[in-house]
Amino acid sequence: MLIDGHGRSVNYLRVSVTERCNFRCQYCMPEKPFSWVPTENLLSFDELFKFIKVAIDEGINKVRITGGEPLLREDLDKFVKLIHDYKPDIDLAITTNGFLLPNVAHKLKDAGLKRLNISLDSLKPAVAAQIAQKNVLSHVLEGIEKALEVGLTVKINMVPLKGINENEILDILEYARERNIRIRYIEYMENVHASSNIKGMHGKEILNVIKSRYTIKKIGRVSNSPSFNYEIQENGYIFGLIDPHKHDFCEDCNRIRLTAEGHLIPCLYFDEAQSIAEAVKENNIDRATAILKDVLANKPKENRWGSDDEENSSNRAFFETGG
Ligand code: SAM
Ligand code: SF4
Repeated sequence: MLIDGHGRSVNYLRVSVTERCNFRCQYCMPEKPFSWVPTENLLSFDELFKFIKVAIDEGINKVRITGGEPLLREDLDKFVKLIHDYKPDIDLAITTNGFLLPNVAHKLKDAGLKRLNISLDSLKPAVAAQIAQKNVLSHVLEGIEKALEVGLTVKINMVPLKGINENEILDILEYARERNIRIRYIEYMENVHASSNIKGMHGKEILNVIKSRYTIKKIGRVSNSPSFNYEIQENGYIFGLIDPHKHDFCEDCNRIRLTAEGHLIPCLYFDEAQSIAEAVKENNIDRATAILKDVLANKPKENRWGSDDEENSSNRAFFETGG
């Protein structure tokens, strides 16, 4: 079992396999970054897998593949299969924008994937295009249907933004409810890479919109999930709210993050990281294990977002850390 310097048990590893993306979401990567990590600096799937094995052997039992857009990386299904075959009972999931899913959902399912989180910010083609800065909606919706058809469990992530998609909070909830999919609303998290002219909605504002139609009851956090769940009394549907401006989810934070070039990051909101790249390239398992333990010993107590002041804005790029 892995325990961090604050006594928290850590069992969840998020792995970003690329920082590149086929969208330019305003809250994440509105401009193509000044420079991408050169392809030769990216760890191969075999190298990433070497570290994942170390992490699993030490007690990680939940792995999420993310990005950038993870489906841009060729042969992702083979990477999924490596992890699945090593530990078939691992909770293995992918977070994707869904655009490329129609062609690969079945391959991912066959490789052993069980769960997918798909970002869906709007059901209106023009609004989806305004947020992603690309005409994306029909592919994303097709991707969701395909994932459901092949038997993957799907969750939807929505980032409500003032004056852009705030009037779709209920529409997307109904879309998800009709398909028996869980939706999680994510508060916009300020970061220096996002467009300067967007403003997120606070958790309370999001809940108020839902309360305008329904009576909702707090359920609570499920184990270490950052999502706080609520139940709609009229129909029993459960939705989630991820509210990082509150610090209560840091109390039992159970996760660490690995970037595509091998930086092991203890907290999404801090710049500190250590590289496991050399260790896996040298096949030095002891060194990789020691770095993992050192990063955990220095995992910060809580994130830095107390309000939406600019000084609380993170330098970390979501497309680098995988959100
Ligand atoms: N490209 C994939 C996607 O969009 O789902 C995976 C990577 S993306 C960085 C992971 C998650 O982070 C997405 O659900 C996205 O909505 C969320 N995200 C990105 N930037 C964010 C921000 N500034 N505030 C809140 N959530 C953000
Ligand atoms: Fe790409 Fe996901 Fe970031 Fe949007 S949120 S730009 S889809 S990485």
